[in-house]
Amino acid sequence: MIAKVLLTLPFNEPFDYKIEGNVKCGDLVRVPFGKDTLVGVVWDICETSKLDSKKIKKIIEVLPFEPLSKNLRKFIEFVSGYNMAYLGLVLKMVLSVKQVFDDPKMLKYYRLSGKTLAQAKLKNSDARWRVMDFLKEGPFNRSDIAAGAGVSQSVIKTMIDVGVLEEVLVEKKKQYQKPVCQFQKVNLTDEQRVAAERLCAKVGEGFNVTLLNGVTGSGKTEVYFEAVEKAFEQGKQVLIMVPEIGLTAQWLSRFEKRFGVKPAQWHSALGQTERIDNWKAVISGEAKIIIGARSALFLPYKELGLIVIDESHDASFKQEDVVNYQGRDMAVVRAKYEAIPLILSTATPDMETVCNVDEGKYDEVRLKSRYASAELPDIKIIDLKKNKPIKGSWGMSWLSPILCDKLKEVYEKGEQSVLFLNRRGYAPLMICRDCGHRIQCPNCSAWLTEHKNSNRLVCHHCGHTQVIPDECPECHSQDGLCACGPGVERIAEEVKYRFPLAKVKVLSSDFATNFKEIHQIIKEMENGNIDILIGTQILAKGHHFPSLTLVGIVDADMGLMGSDLRASERTYQLLSQVAGRAGRGNKKGEVYLQTLYPENAVLNAIKNGDAQEFYAIEKQTRKLLKMPPFGKLASIIVSGIRQNEVEKIAIMLGKAAFNDGKISTLGPAPAPIYMLRGKYRYRLLLKTAKNIKIQDVLRQWLMRVKIPASVRVEVDIDPYSFY
Ligand code: ADP
Ligand code: ZN
Ligand code: ZN
Repeated sequence: MIAKVLLTLPFNEPFDYKIEGNVKCGDLVRVPFGKDTLVGVVWDICETSKLDSKKIKKIIEVLPFEPLSKNLRKFIEFVSGYNMAYLGLVLKMVLSVKQVFDDPKMLKYYRLSGKTLAQAKLKNSDARWRVMDFLKEGPFNRSDIAAGAGVSQSVIKTMIDVGVLEEVLVEKKKQYQKPVCQFQKVNLTDEQRVAAERLCAKVGEGFNVTLLNGVTGSGKTEVYFEAVEKAFEQGKQVLIMVPEIGLTAQWLSRFEKRFGVKPAQWHSALGQTERIDNWKAVISGEAKIIIGARSALFLPYKELGLIVIDESHDASFKQEDVVNYQGRDMAVVRAKYEAIPLILSTATPDMETVCNVDEGKYDEVRLKSRYASAELPDIKIIDLKKNKPIKGSWGMSWLSPILCDKLKEVYEKGEQSVLFLNRRGYAPLMICRDCGHRIQCPNCSAWLTEHKNSNRLVCHHCGHTQVIPDECPECHSQDGLCACGPGVERIAEEVKYRFPLAKVKVLSSDFATNFKEIHQIIKEMENGNIDILIGTQILAKGHHFPSLTLVGIVDADMGLMGSDLRASERTYQLLSQVAGRAGRGNKKGEVYLQTLYPENAVLNAIKNGDAQEFYAIEKQTRKLLKMPPFGKLASIIVSGIRQNEVEKIAIMLGKAAFNDGKISTLGPAPAPIYMLRGKYRYRLLLKTAKNIKIQDVLRQWLMRVKIPASVRVEVDIDPYSFY
């Protein structure tokens, strides 16, 4: 018999191995591969192989884990086919922790050997009897025996020396406690209870998707916790997916308060030991609750009963990496294969989800009011043409007089404010006033951003940094260089000038590698130790700051400048979410949007708190343009080091493209970021009618052009970024 073993390598086909003994589909196996050994999964078992029998190697061993279920294997195949990614690389996302297959750490435990005290010629003593008694429970380590039996180490040592106790090696394992359903229930409001009952009714009833659509601060978390409880009651595992940065201490402690245990986590900042322990506990079914970023969707759950996606509109569920996929959409597929419910929780659903509700594919549960006495904030638009910021002693100003007065008023009342600007650093561009030279990244077609805190220029695309030059690199003017436009650091500088005594902090994803720092600032904000917080989009991620009453949006037009498909949607979500941080406690909040275009429809929909208005306009536009979800879209990005070669392939792809009534191809065009990390880039965009399988079109198309190894052709189905 031959096992077809899928390996975690860039291939779509499994490899053939001979079977000895008992091997079944889904088993995790170690096999020889070249000079190495690799871990893979038995994908299929056949009678024969096309290969020469002598060349086929044997499986080394079947690893002691639960086999990957058929559901999970089908899911892996779907993800690979849909996103046009190698099957082996999708499997790699499941077997993402290589070290779990190494020999586990073993601990020395002791148990009764069966030899009696008399046989060992030891006197009966109380202490010795207590040890004998205690060890009836099973093996323990020395210090547990000492504590449990109330004896000294020397008593234990003697018993070991004479052979009454014998050593056993036990795998070192973290303990995962079961969540306690009734640990601390909250009293739901009537509206919340109705919503919770509807969600609970779906648990254990097979596949279904529900949009939990509730305004910010309506208590969506408390509501979906009820469904989570129901899944626990049925003995199932629950996955809660959150935006990467959303994993705050606040969220974790809320869960712990409700269910009495700490959830197992899964995200990029996890340490290796925890990663190993959690992976094992997921596949064994021991961990009942996993909170994680999008990658947690690919864990090998033993018995998943429910998936919740918190802040389901968040862009971080889309992965643009080795395998491109939209985690939210793939979660729907996983739920389908596992025949379990999925809850999408958000105040600002994405267009695709809204349309799925319209078509009756998803159910919708609404929460229309904020919890308790909290009211939705008042939102006002400031016309920057009429209410211009006034220069001060520190230089340029970015805050209009109305907003400054409000900041002052709120500060004097001892309440908190937030200023939102989705731009990291001090200034997005350095320009020379004498010769017009702009400082550009050497690897990308992008300007370098000035970061004053670290006194460096940084590329936000590739991470290149350099010190800020003393003179213009072009004309050597000593005082020509100046910072152009604001970033959060620059707003903070202005605020510090205006309010010298206020506690001002900046929260920005510059610390992306350091969640601790972000969580520390969020905590300070929660505790009221910050008066004015200035931040980027991190601020939009579901935080609950009870004394925050003023939100100022410094540049509401910024996101609307980009002309891409999702610019309006993204701006609507981002600004509504940031606005939704205001007035969540018992004081009403106010939000000010600074804009040059006060008539803009998106901004007015936000101002009127009218989601329906926004979705109606947006739906119409997309329908007209046959854009998702009314048509399908795929990006093709051609990149490489040699410019002419990349261009040639891009043009060849353009010529080979299909164009008919239902399929159209745009491009090739140089990408907006033409050079990225030293590579030249061209883009093509494929648009098809909704009833066409875009992957099939792509496969046929790409087969028509021979791509040299030095050029990369990347496919992004349902693209979210267009740079
Ligand atoms: P959302 O996720 O909808 O923005 P949250 O779930 O964060 O809202 O709830 C907002 C705040 O209100 C939280 O501090 C939450 O603990 C509190 N809250 C909501 N519902 C209840 C309830 N029924 N009992 C007690 N506190 C609640
Ligand atoms: Zn110059
Ligand atoms: Zn760069």
